[in-house]
Amino acid sequence: MTQSRTEIATLGEFGLIHRLSEGFQPALPDTVRGIGDDAAVMDLGGEYGLITTDMLVEGVHFDLAFSPLRHLGYKAISVNVSDIAAMNGIPHQVVVGLGLSNRFSVEAVEEIYAGVKAACEDFKVDLVGGDTTSSRSGLIISVTVFGKVAKEKVAYRNTARPNDILCVTGDLGSAYMGLQILEREKQVYMANPNMQPELEGKDYVVQRQLKPEARMDVVYELEEAGVVPTSMIDVSDGLASEILHICSQSKVGAILVEENLPIDEQTFLVSTELNLDPVTAAMNGGEDYELLFTIRQDDYNKVKNNPKISFIGYITDKAGEVILNTKGGNRYPITAQGWNHFS
Ligand code: ADP
Ligand code: MG
Repeated sequence: MTQSRTEIATLGEFGLIHRLSEGFQPALPDTVRGIGDDAAVMDLGGEYGLITTDMLVEGVHFDLAFSPLRHLGYKAISVNVSDIAAMNGIPHQVVVGLGLSNRFSVEAVEEIYAGVKAACEDFKVDLVGGDTTSSRSGLIISVTVFGKVAKEKVAYRNTARPNDILCVTGDLGSAYMGLQILEREKQVYMANPNMQPELEGKDYVVQRQLKPEARMDVVYELEEAGVVPTSMIDVSDGLASEILHICSQSKVGAILVEENLPIDEQTFLVSTELNLDPVTAAMNGGEDYELLFTIRQDDYNKVKNNPKISFIGYITDKAGEVILNTKGGNRYPITAQGWNHFS
């Protein structure tokens, strides 16, 4: 008998996760939230525990031709802390798994760990364990973070409500532009190794790609302002994908205002040079590791003067309908197709 074979590509990443997780319903009384959010949530008694894991794989998530090892170590911690931030939580402990090929020296691994240490200091987390193994298919860094959040402050993806204001931190699309620059310089270098990289005036976008910063600063500032987001997610796959997650899981819709999308000046300049559309990069580029969240209208005054937060639209009761109101006055529906725009 022949078994049928389904290509992973036919399901996509989210479809595959859905299919694999269908058979697993949380059974323990302290499992508050399982698969489907930025981190899982467990009841510790007085507060909630948060746990999340993310892996960086050579050739998929990074290219050693232009990713300094120190930055990689930093990024591995930062992108995981970002998922704790997306639950409105505080990170506490990390464990780090390493798959190393024998082309790495001790000094090279120490470089990765210099970055891990810097991130642990920046985000005030303790490295408490991990695993080290050899790898035949390049470098793998797998990080798991444990965090905590007060029960009444946890922010899920599925709790946005109509009329809530849509907010995003920092700026969008810059990490994608940084990647395009690094890829371009790699091609130039491969054609002529004597060429020096042309990175002048591109420092910001390149840094956004190589060394993203989890927005713990904003989590603390929201706390100080007395604002608990009604929903939250971090922007790892691009604004379009994340907003669709919030809307589908919350069974609401959203209106996005193109004019309000935060795009850095350097992202504009680089996009002109590379002949790319900065709004498409903001919507679909990914790897910005900013926070996308919703707040109640009543809370607007408490955060309206925070320069790190842009107010980019609002939630509607039209389930699943996400519309981008363009500068030209058009209504552009955001669909799941946007996810694969760049693949
Ligand atoms: P994020 O981008 O925030 O890290 P993902 O899109 O990677 O989230 O994952 C979405 C959800 O699916 C998360 O709850 C994650 O824990 C879960 N998930 C991802 N891969 C697996 C897997 N192999 N088995 C079980 N759950 C998974
Ligand atoms: Mg996330």
